[in-house]
Amino acid sequence: MLRSHSSSDLTTSSIGQSVTLAGWVHRRRDHGGLIFIDLRDREGLVQVVFDPRRSESVHRLAGTLRNEFVIQVSGEISRRPKGSENPSLPTGEIELVATSCRILNPAKSPPFYINEESDVDENLRLKYRYLDLRRQRMKDNIILRHRVVKCLREFLDARGFIEIETPILIKSTPEGARDFLVPSRLQPGKFYALPQSPQQLKQLLMVAGFEKYYQVARCFRDEDQRADRQLEFTQLDIEMSFVDEADVLQLMEDMFISVVEKVKPSMKLLKPFPRLSYDDVMERYGTDKPDLRFGLELRSLTDIVAGSDFGVFKGAIKSGGIVKGLCVPGCGAYTRKQLDELIDLARAFGARGLVALALVEEADGVAVDKASSAAAKFLATEEVRKMADRLGAKAGDLLLIVADRAGVVNKVLDQMRREMGRRLGLIDQNTLAVAFVVDFPLFEWSEEEKRWQASHHPFTAPRDEDIPMLDTEPAKVRAKCYDIVCNGYELSSGSIRIHNRDIQEKVFRLLGYDAERVRRLFGHMLEAFEYGAPPHGGIAPGIDRMVMILAGEESIREVIAFPKNQAGCDLTFDAPSEVSDEQLRELHLMRRDED
Ligand code: ASP
Repeated sequence: MLRSHSSSDLTTSSIGQSVTLAGWVHRRRDHGGLIFIDLRDREGLVQVVFDPRRSESVHRLAGTLRNEFVIQVSGEISRRPKGSENPSLPTGEIELVATSCRILNPAKSPPFYINEESDVDENLRLKYRYLDLRRQRMKDNIILRHRVVKCLREFLDARGFIEIETPILIKSTPEGARDFLVPSRLQPGKFYALPQSPQQLKQLLMVAGFEKYYQVARCFRDEDQRADRQLEFTQLDIEMSFVDEADVLQLMEDMFISVVEKVKPSMKLLKPFPRLSYDDVMERYGTDKPDLRFGLELRSLTDIVAGSDFGVFKGAIKSGGIVKGLCVPGCGAYTRKQLDELIDLARAFGARGLVALALVEEADGVAVDKASSAAAKFLATEEVRKMADRLGAKAGDLLLIVADRAGVVNKVLDQMRREMGRRLGLIDQNTLAVAFVVDFPLFEWSEEEKRWQASHHPFTAPRDEDIPMLDTEPAKVRAKCYDIVCNGYELSSGSIRIHNRDIQEKVFRLLGYDAERVRRLFGHMLEAFEYGAPPHGGIAPGIDRMVMILAGEESIREVIAFPKNQAGCDLTFDAPSEVSDEQLRELHLMRRDED
């Protein structure tokens, strides 16, 4: 080794020891003859002192050191002089008094500071990711990720799960996203697909009798990029035989508790995790991934204003829409400008408008402050009181109400609720509010494609008692499906699967696949179900999102060593990139000029 110790090995009990350290020059300071270097290695920092009275030549060399030079230094550990200790560093009471120093590799001046958390353009960070990863926050994130994955593996191993790798070159799986295709050289004109998830493979492992499987699995989906999406991402893919929904959820609850207690014991994890129905969360939060760290719940007001003279409410209800609202406590004194800003915000989220009503006290109860809203004069006193009552509002509060199609109302109020939660400081960053959302419908109607789509994926089992409705009222069939949500993010989806050929075929048919397509795409699954497939189910928590939340980050790119940027490019490698005509020829591909 080029070193005898790393920085984390050094404590006050190392005083007097001769050591050799190696690492990067984090910072250099010249102080009246003495030169100080903060030497950085993976574990932390150690102060190195170069004293001309000890060695003139070593001191001279230290004068040539620049940030990010890679060096090897030997000397003796001594106690820092009184008053110069640094309590914020684990090595803050000691320093290395250098007697020799060697430059292992000089460095150019980096394009951004490594030694401070300054704001740097993300594309520049991604181009020089190997430098960005040297920065403390990123290093901590990547190490946290390692620890989380290690805990997950240990937990599952202790529960009897077996880690099994599955192929990356496989056949297209219909999980709702676009596939990445890989042309085959050996089979001209044919393609592999990169797995959107190992869904079918893990089910086949259950048919194979492994009973409890997991994998830290890379998944590929050719989707537009967002803060919490990447073209390739990592799931903790899990599948179990002979279980029902409650077994999978209990396993997940135990697993999350165990990981958080090990890697982030300082975070407050709300226990036990509530199990909430899909209908319930849509009603109370307008979304299936609610942030449960704060209240501000939504309430339906449709019945109260069903007979209202107010055109906005009347119009929405007449065309089959709904009216819903939330109460923002203490914001009744918002100025006209602030209210207009909220209305603009609601429009940006997709609403046609937002009714904002500030409540004031009148002799016989609350009323709308006329100055707050033009709508006030169209609303009957009784309507206002009932709405305030339902929303638990009092004088001084602000009601935010949206009237539109249910989809729009829920989407806008979900966003308004999150925004107001942030503004009012109701969101405790140190709390983890995990919940299970259950009782999803099996199908969703796609207006665009005019057909049923699987809410989760086509392998999800319907509830036993709802199976007869597959033939009569598919919209009403509920799924044996569950989501894990945490702090407003969907962490994971899973389900108990269909293990019976007839039901699987029926579901495919309802999803609009003809017999020939089913045979071509899923023949192997249907056949497997005829060879003694056990009842089985699973789930696949997203590791990137899990680590992102635990790290307190807002983008999964901050917890992935080499992520793609918003345009799906790897800027360090400049991928995707052109390839040679020769490579294309081998793959039986031809470039076509786009017309
Ligand atoms: N394969 C599913 C997904 O990626 C998860 C599961 O059902 O286990 O969403």
